[in-house]
Amino acid sequence: MDDPEWTARAVRTALRGDVSELPPAPAAAVKLLRLTNDESSDIAAISRVIETEPALTAKVLQVVNSAFYGFPRRIRSISRAVTLLGFSAVRQAALHALFFEGMVGRGGQGGFDRVYFWQHCLLVAILSRSIGERVGHPDPDALYAAGLLHDLGKVILESHGRVRYSDFLAAVTNSGNPIRDDEQTFFGVSHDQVGAVVCADWDLPELICRVQSLHHCAIADSGLDVERAREVAIVSLADFIAWTQGIGSVDLVGCPLLAPEVPALIALDQLDLAELLAQADREVGEIGGFYGVRFPSVMQLRANMVNTAIGLCRHDAPPLPHGGRSSHTAPHHSLEPDEFIPSTLEALRAEFGIDQLLMMQIKARRRSLVTTHALPRALLMREAEPIELSIPMLSGDLVRALRARQPVLVPNTPENLPLLDRLGLKQAAAVPVLGNGRILGVLWLGGEQPFPLRLLEEVGLVAGELGIAIERSQTFARERTRAQIDALTLLHNRSVIDEYLDSTFAQSAESGRGFALGLLDIDRFKDFNDRFGHQTGDDVLRIVADTMRGLTRPSDFLARYGGEEFLFVLHDTGGSGALNYAERIRHQIERRGQLLGERFPGHALTASIGVALYDSAQASPKALIAAADRALYRAKETGRNRVVAAWME
Ligand code: GH3
Ligand code: MG
Ligand code: MG
Repeated sequence: MDDPEWTARAVRTALRGDVSELPPAPAAAVKLLRLTNDESSDIAAISRVIETEPALTAKVLQVVNSAFYGFPRRIRSISRAVTLLGFSAVRQAALHALFFEGMVGRGGQGGFDRVYFWQHCLLVAILSRSIGERVGHPDPDALYAAGLLHDLGKVILESHGRVRYSDFLAAVTNSGNPIRDDEQTFFGVSHDQVGAVVCADWDLPELICRVQSLHHCAIADSGLDVERAREVAIVSLADFIAWTQGIGSVDLVGCPLLAPEVPALIALDQLDLAELLAQADREVGEIGGFYGVRFPSVMQLRANMVNTAIGLCRHDAPPLPHGGRSSHTAPHHSLEPDEFIPSTLEALRAEFGIDQLLMMQIKARRRSLVTTHALPRALLMREAEPIELSIPMLSGDLVRALRARQPVLVPNTPENLPLLDRLGLKQAAAVPVLGNGRILGVLWLGGEQPFPLRLLEEVGLVAGELGIAIERSQTFARERTRAQIDALTLLHNRSVIDEYLDSTFAQSAESGRGFALGLLDIDRFKDFNDRFGHQTGDDVLRIVADTMRGLTRPSDFLARYGGEEFLFVLHDTGGSGALNYAERIRHQIERRGQLLGERFPGHALTASIGVALYDSAQASPKALIAAADRALYRAKETGRNRVVAAWME
């Protein structure tokens, strides 16, 4: 992934046409960005660049003569403008003219709101420059340019991607994955890689290229010296501040990650944030006013944030189209507890309106519970060490209820106060998190009011899924080391299947409970490899695996059965449930394929699925797989992109 040649190739694949032909690379913009604000760039140099483009000259003169500057006499030449306003102001005006014409003025449709996006870029630019000034950076103007262009990759993908960025956004709204991971799967590259390759191709100054490629990375890994690392940190911080103001780059609920080094590189307590924001508001308003663009007002942005919060906190948030709540599926969006536990907490907050959530896991050897995750995160950071509760010190009632696997209310009565204080919660409820019958941890809910019992029951179901997911992640960690996981799709590999099916058959014979087994095969997959290369074929396998994972309960089983064949086992599932599941997967793969139509021109991404049901009379894994395989064969034979049930044959 870090190999520059590989990245450049991947970027070319993600885009329509060649990077060097992209229209938003106006020569004048590139030249302006290369000029530095020092003695070597004199008035003549900047005037020459602007004057090479008559339309640009007109725009800049229009800015200079606007009411904002209020010069009594009309200014007619660029060199006069530079003398009066200074290099920096004129260059900024020119950059805006180019940027505005290049992207905002072209209008846009779909989920990518260009005006909103432009406002984000402006705010990041202004904040980057102001922070730079306050920390004594030698060239705050350069930071302004780097901030203005930091998300260039998104614009490029929107206007020139084989998949449009707006279509991508619409598809991943509820994916639960970090957005850059979704970008990787969809485009084969992320927006920062696209931006970096394009900037290098345009031969832009190093600072701008560096910020492009590193603004979402752990700065410590980049090997930069302190001064350069600080420049990246400044733009990342500006990006983050913009998000907190309701002006993120795209309208998603997810919060941008702030590299942990940022506070070490920038003395945050020396920034007067109120002053910084007031100045930024003023400038954004002025620039928008000049271009006749109506940015959402501060009140509108605040209203947006209220709406986001309502969406996140409503008790009765509408269920997902798959018929389940996202809190039920959030635990299996990932195999990393550090990813799926926070997203499950987020989903619980959004769907049940719970203010505070604390996840504690059992440390058996120490006989204690230790906080591992919390929402809001401030709960976790109340003390230097994660909060640890000694189990023998907990009240008998609480421990008994948890042992009985029951959720329990912890109201703010005097005897509970020390515990509630310790946790930082006003009212609480504890829900045990169980895996395989063992208590793995406790989920604490906190809020102003006592929790209704019905809510605890519902959260109990989610805690059940969470327990299975934690258990599974532990198994996964063990299995990965034992090489039972397919490295490409991160599903179980073939070597696990036999053992798994043997034990599933044994359990069903004993309990009498049925299950379903299916085989999925990607249609005409060989053609993908032949036309677009093996690497793209691998991306397709990952897309299919991710799609399946996203729609499968963590208690069910997914494996890569062979090259482009996948196997699933659905517990306690009968015919109609299994067909619904298979149809959902088939449909979702087809939809993703349509979205990726431009990346794979002429090749629809679809899959065929055969499903069979466990039948105690012919109880052998081999027979069941053979039945599913025959159904799959029928699906292929009768036109592909369909689901066939073995019991209907
Ligand atoms: P059908 O619709 O009949 O299933 O046609 P198909 O092309 O999908 O099936 P076929 O079995 O003819 O081709 C499967 C191809 O999958 C052949 C093989 O090169 C490719 N393949 C197997 N494993 C991998 C892999 O890990 N990565 C990639 N990129 N390709 C793989
Ligand atoms: Mg970005
Ligand atoms: Mg196939």
